[in-house]
Formats: sequence, structure tokens, C-alpha cells
Amino acid sequence: MNINVSFEFFPPKTQMAAIQLRDNAIILEKMGPHFFSVTFGAGGSTRTGSIETIKLLQSETKIPVAPHLSCLGSTFEDISGLLEVYKNLSLKRIVALRGDLPAGEKREGDLNFAYELVSFIRKTTNDYFHIEVAAYPEVHPEAPNPTADIINLKRKFEAGANSAITQYFFNPDAYFYFKDECAKENIFSPIIPGIMPITHFDKLQRFSSICGAEIPRWLSKRLEMYGDDQESIKAFGAEVVYNLCQRLVAGGAPALHFYTLNQAGPTLNLLQMLGIQGFSL
Ligand code: FAD
Repeated sequence: MNINVSFEFFPPKTQMAAIQLRDNAIILEKMGPHFFSVTFGAGGSTRTGSIETIKLLQSETKIPVAPHLSCLGSTFEDISGLLEVYKNLSLKRIVALRGDLPAGEKREGDLNFAYELVSFIRKTTNDYFHIEVAAYPEVHPEAPNPTADIINLKRKFEAGANSAITQYFFNPDAYFYFKDECAKENIFSPIIPGIMPITHFDKLQRFSSICGAEIPRWLSKRLEMYGDDQESIKAFGAEVVYNLCQRLVAGGAPALHFYTLNQAGPTLNLLQMLGIQGFSL
């Protein structure tokens, strides 16, 4: 299979986790990804960790790095400072987001929505960055309705975004229907499916309830049945996500973005099942 892939990492919290991330990035580099992305906590909570992770990936691999930039709780000055740092690191791609502050935390900032951030990046840096934004085939949890959410995506493209990466989902029809609805609003920019490998049922349930991704009943019931049998969960999860990727690519997905959770194994396994060979550097 011939399709662009990209891999997402988060800033590790310990020295040991940083070493593991480096080793996993070196393994995944061999698959020839289009870019690595690094998450960023809203309010600047991971500012130092995100920048260190970007530098680590730049020094240990040859893959372009795309920082996420979450604007909630940040001032124009904070954002300008970060854009300057990213330019100095020769980064050319940004994933521009609103972000989520930790529950109960309130922080004053100059930007409330991702489209305002996209607009600000364009105003201050023109066409220097390729800007990715987030999209939600299963609807963002705070959106008043699906159409309003698509109009919000349109606002992000009109503000200057180049492409979008989706929240993860397990029902390919959610993506295809979403793309059709986007086309009705004249959104034809690339919308790249975000892919979550399934490795742990509890963790997946926790993430999914926070970010509004649906685990279909047929899937959760089977994962639940395996209990502590991690091997069966991984094998079944890989089969499900492999089928999802196949249908997405066959249906015209422009690329696949993998939420690696800083692990190489599950993503690598999926790429091998899909026949994405990578290259040797
Ligand atoms: P927005 O596009 O601003 O939308 C947020 C909500 O506001 C939506 O419900 C939208 O419909 C609504 N809305 C927009 N404009 C208006 C308006 N004018 N009036 C009323 N409502 C409006 N989070 C992080 O903290 N760090 C990360 O690194 C990170 N990476 C991510 C990567 C991807 C690919 C994805 C899909 C999500 C990521 N997230 C990250 C999570 C994301 O920040 C959250 O989902 C957040 O709640 C919304 O961000 P957004 O950029 O989609 O916001």
C-alpha cells in the first residue's frame, strides 16, 4: 500500500520515558513518515517539554517535526514567542488547536478558538507555516450540533489552514459521511484520518470518554470479554484497526495520522499488516 503516514508523540515526563521515545522514533523513522508531530498542553503546561521533545526528534531522526500549538490560556505574546522558537528551529508545519485546559482550571488568554489562532499565525507569519487543524467526524463534544462543527472547520480553513487531522474513530462511515457533509460546505482541503491503535481497553475507554470518540458496542463488548488477556486485546484490536485503515484508504483518505502514544510496536504492526514498507535510511 502506498500512502503518506505521520506519527504523533507527546512530551515524555521522565528521562527514562525520553529514552524510550527516542528509541521508538528511530524505529518508526524507518517507515518514512511525512512528519512527526508533538502535542502541546493548553496554557503552555508542556511548553518546555514539547520544545525539548521537538529538539530530541530533530537531533535523533531526519523526519520533519510538526509542533502542536494549543492557544487556550495563552497571550498573543506567548504565541508569538513560540512561533519565533519554531521558526528558529526551521519547523515548517504546525498543528493549530484550541486545546483543553485541565478540568476546573481557568486561565486568561487572548484566543478562545482555533480559527482565531490560525488567523493570528497567518497574520504574523504569512505563508511560512503549513497549518493543520483538528476535525471531528463524530462531532466535537462541545459543538451545539454537527453542522455548527463543520462550519467551525470551514472557519479554520477560511482563516488559512491547509489541511485537517481528525479525532480518532472506529466507524469508517463516520469519516465518509463527514467528508460528504464537508463537500456540501465547499470544504475540499485534505482531511486526514487520525488512527488510534487499540492496545488497552481501560485506557481507550478513558481517552474516548474525554475526547468524545465512540467505541461501538460490538467492539467494546469484545474487548471487555478479553479481560486481562492483553495478547488477545492486541491481536483483535490490530485486526479491527487494520480493517478500518484499509477501508479508509480504499475510500480515498489522503494519508493516515497515527496516535502512537509514544510506542512504536502497535503502529509498526499495523503498517506491516497494511503492507506499508517504509524505507531504510
Ligand atoms: P476549535 O476548532 O476552536 O473548536 C472547539 C469547540 O468550539 C468546537 O465544539 C467548536 O464547534 C466550538 N466553536 C468554535 N468556534 C466557536 C464560536 N465562535 N462560538 C461557539 N463555539 C465555537 N489538545 C491539546 O491540548 N493539545 C494537543 O496537542 C492536541 N492535539 C490534538 C490533535 C488532534 C489531531 C486533535 C483532533 C485534537 C487534539 N487536541 C489537543 C484536542 C483539542 O485541543 C480538543 O479537542 C479541543 O477541545 C478542541 O480543539 P479545536 O482546535 O478543535 O478547537
